[in-house]
Amino acid sequence: MADTEYFRRTAVTGLSVGPAEAERLRGLIEEWKRGCQLAVNEAWGVCHTRSEVQQLAYDTLREETTLGSQHVVLATHRAAEAIKRAQDRDGSKPEFTSPSVTFDTRTMTVFDDRTVSLTTTDERVRCDLSLSADGGYQAQFLDDEQWEPAKSTLHYRDGEFVLHLGFRTPRPEVEPPTEGATVLGVDLGVENLAVTSTARFFSAGELNHRREQFEQVRASLSATGTRSASRTLKQAGYSVDQFVRGRLHEVANGIVDEAEQYDCQLVAFGELSEVVDILPEADPFHEWLFSQLLSLVEYRAAARDISVVQVNPEYTSQRCMECGFTHPENRNLDEGQFECLKCEASANDDYNAAKNIAFRCVRRGPLSSRGLGASACALRSGLISPNDGFTPYAELTDAPRSD
Ligand SMILES: [Zn+2]
Repeated sequence: MADTEYFRRTAVTGLSVGPAEAERLRGLIEEWKRGCQLAVNEAWGVCHTRSEVQQLAYDTLREETTLGSQHVVLATHRAAEAIKRAQDRDGSKPEFTSPSVTFDTRTMTVFDDRTVSLTTTDERVRCDLSLSADGGYQAQFLDDEQWEPAKSTLHYRDGEFVLHLGFRTPRPEVEPPTEGATVLGVDLGVENLAVTSTARFFSAGELNHRREQFEQVRASLSATGTRSASRTLKQAGYSVDQFVRGRLHEVANGIVDEAEQYDCQLVAFGELSEVVDILPEADPFHEWLFSQLLSLVEYRAAARDISVVQVNPEYTSQRCMECGFTHPENRNLDEGQFECLKCEASANDDYNAAKNIAFRCVRRGPLSSRGLGASACALRSGLISPNDGFTPYAELTDAPRSD
């Protein structure tokens, strides 16, 4: 199956490794680096696809390293990827210095008791995954048979092993609604990670705060460059990573819950690259957050037969949802308020944008239009559609569409 047919996730976890096992894993990493380098040396200037590099360098690696046959295959593939990247970049020959090694399901087994077994150049190593008491966000992949382990990478730095455990699950086909669908609009941002057209706010405050703290730690420690400083930095990075991924899962679940509660068959986001262009404060971290969030929502939504689409977000932050007047100065950026110059309606900036995203999906359809029939936007107090205008929900409760 092509890669687009899978959802992929990475669960980052430490490993509890005794001295003897650590020795074996370090030995593997050294041999792996050497194997990748041998494969690059042989294939450089000759070929760059996985199958070509494998065919060319397999025997050499089998003869000149102590890697097992499957790790030899993986090392030739890793070399092929590095050659390809180097060609796309500056064309200088790759050097393998990073202490990491790739595993697949033939060289790694993940067990239900949260241990992992890894092939080395010697005996296999079996060790515990270091997870928080409740299993952390990693538990949802480890404990769910829908997610199967996939290609993973072991990293070694400052005496610690960290496993980037890959999981995948087949991407289900969600039959898009043909007509009459209700859409939930979602606006993405830097202060509020996501705001729905039904006025549910998901703050990014703690995410931004943790990340700033991490940057400060990094800045103050990079000056010292000692081993303990490096370890402190690594631990800080690990804990930020745990927090960020956990929060992304929370927000994705919240968005899909909201769609279900308001009986929406579609969730609309602004197209991600455009969203990043529009937001002056967004940096690569936010770009990463948005794409992770979108993928998490797609996965959760598919399980409930809800389609996720992207719409052109242009002017969604400048258009007044009450009267349609569109102007860049409709906004009071200092206060995060939308204030319409024409009708004087005011609303939270992001909430107004989320409503416009939903409305755009109804009016113009999603970007990858396959004739999706959205006909109404879900708002907090009712539905709005081009034909019927505003229709309040029958009951104004927390679950107004639960009849
Ligand atoms: Zn207005």
